[in-house]
Amino acid sequence: MIRFESVSKKYPDGTLAVDELDLVAPSGRITVLVGPSGCGKTTSLRMINRMIEPTDGRIWLDDRDTASVPTHELRRGIGYVIQHAGLFPHRTVVDNITTVPELLGQDKKRARARAMELMERVGLPAQLAKRYPAQLSGGQQQRVGVARALAADPPVMLMDEPFSAVDPVVRAQLQNEFLRLQGELGKTIVFVTHDIDEAIKLGDQVAVLRVGGHLAQLASPADLLAA
Ligand code: ADP
Ligand code: ADP
Repeated sequence: MIRFESVSKKYPDGTLAVDELDLVAPSGRITVLVGPSGCGKTTSLRMINRMIEPTDGRIWLDDRDTASVPTHELRRGIGYVIQHAGLFPHRTVVDNITTVPELLGQDKKRARARAMELMERVGLPAQLAKRYPAQLSGGQQQRVGVARALAADPPVMLMDEPFSAVDPVVRAQLQNEFLRLQGELGKTIVFVTHDIDEAIKLGDQVAVLRVGGHLAQLASPADLLAA
């Protein structure tokens, strides 16, 4: 479980990006943060793994205040997937996926075997393993990004507009595969999007933010559809 307790972020230039956010993202569920550009979604997400430090409040991961956990330890348990996948351009697909396990000192052969297994799970044909990111389609790159985040088997995944840079057909495929995978894996997921339809499709719960970093509504997808 991730719990925001009266969390605020004011940037040095005075911008109040997040304003006293209280929110619980339950374990094993998908919590979607949705709202217009600039409403503080990315800032909220990056405070969870302390890429951004809150100026006020606390963020709890289960029973631990994330401020008291060394960041390398914190991030080992938190996968992170972004738009355009953020792949390392000079590493092949398989080397992208094994980056974290190898940094953690995992046996290279084992890491590669697991990478091939993950490729299959996210719908990437094995023959793409030796390609470089630029030789993949946008949809394939996003799949590699998801596989790379899963390689460390983190209980928590942060996803920032992971499917926004691909065309609508591929996007729908990625969403469906993601839901299927999550059905098996049951990760604790915080998912950022500006697209309300995507929020309703993917979220177990949806936190609607408005500009100024206020939580406007916390709802189930069914509630939002009825509204
Ligand atoms: P969203 O992800 O919803 O688009 P962000 O969290 O990126 O929103 O940004 C929230 C607000 O904080 C915006 O007004 C944005 O301009 C501002 N902001 C984001 N990053 C910085 C920064 N490094 N310095 C100053 N203001 C920032
Ligand atoms: P998608 O529908 O997944 O976005 P694309 O239509 O972009 O797929 O690409 C179709 C096929 O072409 C994919 O199998 C992909 O591997 C291949 N492909 C795309 N770009 C390149 C490239 N720059 N070099 C080699 N193969 C590519």
